[in-house]
Amino acid sequence: MLDSNRIMSKGFDVEIDTLANGGQAEDSTGVLSERSDLSVGLSSGGGAKSFYIETFGCQMNVHDTEKVAGFLLARGYRAAASATDADLMLYNTCSIREKAAQKVFSRLGEWRGERRKVIGVLGCLAQQEGEEIFERAPWVSLVCGSASYRKLPELVAELESGGRRVMGLDLNVDETFETEITRRDNPIRAYITIIEGCDYACSYCVVPHTRGPERSRASDAVLSEARRLAYAGYTEIQLLGQTVNSYRDPSPRKLSFVELLREVASVIGIRRVRFTTSHPNDFHREIVDAIDSTLALCDHIHLPVQSGSDRILREMRRTYTRDEYLDKISWIRGARRAISITSDIIVGFPGESERDFEDTLTLLDEVGYDGIFSFSYSPRPNTTATSMPDAIPEAEKSRRLAILQERQRQIQLTRNEKLVGETFEVLVDNHNAARAQWAGRTSSNRMINFTSPRENLLGEYIQVKVTRAAPHSLVGEHVALQ
Ligand code: SAM
Ligand code: SF4
Repeated sequence: MLDSNRIMSKGFDVEIDTLANGGQAEDSTGVLSERSDLSVGLSSGGGAKSFYIETFGCQMNVHDTEKVAGFLLARGYRAAASATDADLMLYNTCSIREKAAQKVFSRLGEWRGERRKVIGVLGCLAQQEGEEIFERAPWVSLVCGSASYRKLPELVAELESGGRRVMGLDLNVDETFETEITRRDNPIRAYITIIEGCDYACSYCVVPHTRGPERSRASDAVLSEARRLAYAGYTEIQLLGQTVNSYRDPSPRKLSFVELLREVASVIGIRRVRFTTSHPNDFHREIVDAIDSTLALCDHIHLPVQSGSDRILREMRRTYTRDEYLDKISWIRGARRAISITSDIIVGFPGESERDFEDTLTLLDEVGYDGIFSFSYSPRPNTTATSMPDAIPEAEKSRRLAILQERQRQIQLTRNEKLVGETFEVLVDNHNAARAQWAGRTSSNRMINFTSPRENLLGEYIQVKVTRAAPHSLVGEHVALQ
């Protein structure tokens, strides 16, 4: 299920059923793995037109799908039970790596010659390929990039009134995508996008081209959504953004990211607040202080480093050095709470020497990450790294990736073994009836599988004592509070 070059510290060492209500597989940073079986679609009823959305990529895409589904439901569409049953079949796509893009085209190929249903491509690949999608798959009639979702009502109206091909690819947007209804699929954790797009220009990354410039949402809109979610029974909120900590409140209140964190954490009923992804350049000590002093802010920070080599970091245009990054890690390690740290790493960037790669390995040892997403560099259109000399052969990239993952596996095992005997508060989010096991996450986002004499634990906060450790998850037992 996980992309082969995106093997992360998997969240699930023991197989667990997906959530009863359209479950989602997340790895230990809470970032969704690239997979093609995330879908929105429910049983049908009535005579309205129906839709089905298949989602690829990150949490931001998953949450965009929830918003697009909400918009379609508000417009009178109903969710179909399967892709085959739907009148409108939408693919919300990812193009972060070549493999992700290929997957979408192979999915589209399954509908070759289809005339009865409307097929649409949303998201990053739509933005990247634009009209080319109509060329490669002439049976597609809607192409809309994620920066243009605000245009979806017009585009869908055009299709409804007989339009054959409609397209929304505008990147010059200064507003975020707000919907009146969001159809949430995860009954335990709710996402709120607080910032969209990206103003950085990492030389390997398509995101600034596919998601447009950075724009933050007004703090009042974020806070009222958090209150509505708490009222609906959610206790855990995850704030989302490609560079979530670059948040700048566009409203007169002008809240900083940390002020927003504190306010969301103080919403009555909200017990856990997470945020991802933080850019090291905008990572300030105040974030650590806020976590230290606010129990509802989870003790986990995802801080992608990408490489341990200063030379490669410069070529990647990451805007920080290894030492500057390590300084920030030392703030986190110096906190009163034990904060878990996870990261993203790319191996095989053009020109990466053995020495550069060794620098990344020593960085793993120095930081002692609790989890990483590791990627083999994939050249992307419209990025400057694509034309850089000294491409690393695929076989060599795979070799480095395997070495990196093995080193990290050992680090995680050692770190997790130290937790045996400790007791954590766990938010229960899964049940495996066949194994008679429950699963949930600690505040530090560690996945724990456990047994309990109790029933109906989904959505509850309980105490779990760790009895065994694996590299990617823990095993434990439910203990009663003393
Ligand atoms: N904004 C986040 C940051 O700056 O860390 C990352 C967002 S990006 C969607 C997720 C991850 O994909 C990146 O951190 C990077 O490790 C990986 N990635 C992006 N472009 C890639 C490429 N061309 N090849 C391999 N991995 C890539
Ligand atoms: Fe891509 Fe860099 Fe922006 Fe992250 S900060 S989304 S890696 S360009």
